[in-house]
Amino acid sequence: MVDHPRVQRVIRELLEAIGEDPSREGLRETPRRVADMYVELFEGIESDPGEHLRVTFEVGHDEMVMVRDIPFTSLCEHHLVPFVGHAHVAYLPSADGRIAGLSKLARLVEGYARRLQVQERMTTQLVEAMERELKPRGSIVVIEAEHFCMSMRGVKKDGMTTVTSAVRGVFRNDAAYRAEALQYIHQRRSAWP
Ligand code: ZN
Repeated sequence: MVDHPRVQRVIRELLEAIGEDPSREGLRETPRRVADMYVELFEGIESDPGEHLRVTFEVGHDEMVMVRDIPFTSLCEHHLVPFVGHAHVAYLPSADGRIAGLSKLARLVEGYARRLQVQERMTTQLVEAMERELKPRGSIVVIEAEHFCMSMRGVKKDGMTTVTSAVRGVFRNDAAYRAEALQYIHQRRSAWP
């Protein structure tokens, strides 16, 4: 749980520490605004996003289900600035053909984004949540994101994206399944972002 008054105190202190005047007009409400924002950005910290996948439907569909271009914003735990991008998630349902609601895959991504993150761990958490909750024959996650800690400073390469992937089950063991999934991901209409 975000300690709202404490965050406000710390942000005021931070403003002083960087040589600012927290009492000047533009900054007077900043500690409160940042604390409000953190409540929202970190609501995933205590949650188990896998719970979104616990309600499944028997539809007799045993071929690949993919939701691609799920937009997300998370906060890099190394620099406390955003990384922003899209996740593509897919799974091959278990033989009984039970599937999760499609919007629940987007909620899964959001749940793991709403906390301090690194892209590599988020990718693994998503694939492992699908494995754990859906017991699929395979699952795959690809995340493409721009990291503001890279693009805002130093060699300011904005537009540079970091791509991570995690594959399990048939997508790992069978090149044909993996190629099919990657083909769908790359075929999407608009290029990122
Ligand atoms: Zn960073």
